[in-house]
Amino acid sequence: MSDSLLGELKAALDARAAAGLLRRRRLLESPQGAHVRVDGAEVISFCSNDYLGLAQHPQLIAAMQQGAAEAGVGSGASHLITGHHRYHQALEQALAEFVAMPASLLFSTGYMANLGVITALLGRDDAIFADKLNHASLNDAAVLCRAQLHRFAHNDMVMLERQLATSTAKRKLVAVDAVFSMDGDLAPLTALLALCERYDAWLYLDDAHGFGVLGPHGQGAAAAFGLYSDRLIYMATLGKAAGVAGAFVAGAQLVIDYLQQSARSHIYTTAAPPALAATLLTALPLIAQQDWRRQHLHHLIAMLQSGLQHGRWPLLPSATAIQPLLVGDNHQALALSEYLLARGLLVPAIRPPTVPAGTARLRISLSAAHTVDDVQGLLTALHAAAQEIAA
Ligand SMILES: *Cc1c(COP(=O)(O)O)cnc(C)c1O
Repeated sequence: MSDSLLGELKAALDARAAAGLLRRRRLLESPQGAHVRVDGAEVISFCSNDYLGLAQHPQLIAAMQQGAAEAGVGSGASHLITGHHRYHQALEQALAEFVAMPASLLFSTGYMANLGVITALLGRDDAIFADKLNHASLNDAAVLCRAQLHRFAHNDMVMLERQLATSTAKRKLVAVDAVFSMDGDLAPLTALLALCERYDAWLYLDDAHGFGVLGPHGQGAAAAFGLYSDRLIYMATLGKAAGVAGAFVAGAQLVIDYLQQSARSHIYTTAAPPALAATLLTALPLIAQQDWRRQHLHHLIAMLQSGLQHGRWPLLPSATAIQPLLVGDNHQALALSEYLLARGLLVPAIRPPTVPAGTARLRISLSAAHTVDDVQGLLTALHAAAQEIAA
C-alpha cells in the first residue's frame, strides 16, 4: 500500500492529537451502571445514558436469557424476508400503545432510524428544517436525503417561521431533538407543532433522551406536552433510558406502512435479535410502573442544581438528566474532568467541535441508579475543585 495513503491518515491523526482533540475509548470491565470498573479503576460514573438504571436489571437479564433460549441468538434475516419474529411484532404493538400513537416500526439503532425515516420521506424537491444543535445522526440524514437544508438557530421559532414561510419546497419536514443531547434543554414542542400545522410540514421528533424520563409514566416528550397529530413522527431510542438497544418510530398508521416499504435502513439490514425485543417487552412495564425511578432521578437533579447554585461554574438550564456544567475554556474543562477522575468520579469534558467554541463543559448525566451520596460526593469534589483549579 502506498505510503502517501497511510501518510495522509497519520497526518490527520497527528493534527488532531496536537489540537488536543484525539479521543480515546475507555475500557469498561463491569456492567453499565452508576458504579463501574473503568480502565482498571472503580469509579462513580456520571456519563451513561442509562437514565433509569435498567441496563443491568435482573429481570431484563433473565428476559434476554429466556428470549435467546426460545428464539435463538440471531434473527437471520431482514424484517421483510423472514427476520420479523413475533417478539418484534409484539414489541412494535407495545411501543405504539406505550406512546399512545397508532403504529410503530423498529430499527436496530436510533442512528439508523433517523437516516431511514428522513431519506424515505424527503428527496430533491423537498426541504428539511433543522435546529443547529441537532444530533449528528439527524444532520447526516439531512445531507443524505438531498433535500434543501435550512438550519435555524437553537430553538429560534422566529427564524424557523421565516424559513418555512419563504420555502417553495414540495414537502417540508421540521426535525429536532426533543431533548438536546449536549445541553439537556427541551425544544419548544407546542410551538413547533403549531408552525408545522400552519405551514403544512411534518414534525419529526428525536426523543432519544426524553423517552422513559419525561411524561407522566415515561412516555416521552410528546406525551409530556400532550402532542397528538397525524403530522407528528416520533422517534425514540431503546438503548438509553430503556436500558437495552434499538429504536422505534411511531406515527399515523399510513406513515408507518409507508416507512415499512421505503425506509432503507429498516429494509436492507438484518433484524435485531428477537431476544432484544423480548427484553424490551419486559422493560416497558418497568418503565411505566416504576415511577419511583423518575422521582428519584428528579430528586437528584434538584439536589445537583441547588448544590451548584452559587458555584464557580454555572449549570446550563436543563430539567432533564443531562446537566451540563459550563466551564468555557477547553483546558480548564479537561483539568476539571481529570481532577474529578483522580477522586473516583467519571464526568466527561465535552469540547468543540462537539459544542460551540468557548462553551467547553462537563456533561453530567444523572441516573436513577445514583444514590444521594453519589451526588453529594460529586458536589463536594466540585466545590473543592473550584478552589484548587487555576483560572
Ligand atoms: C443517542 C442518540 C441517537 C442515536 O441513537 P442510537 O440508538 O444510539 O444509535 C440519535 N439521536 C439522539 C439525539 C441521540 O442522543
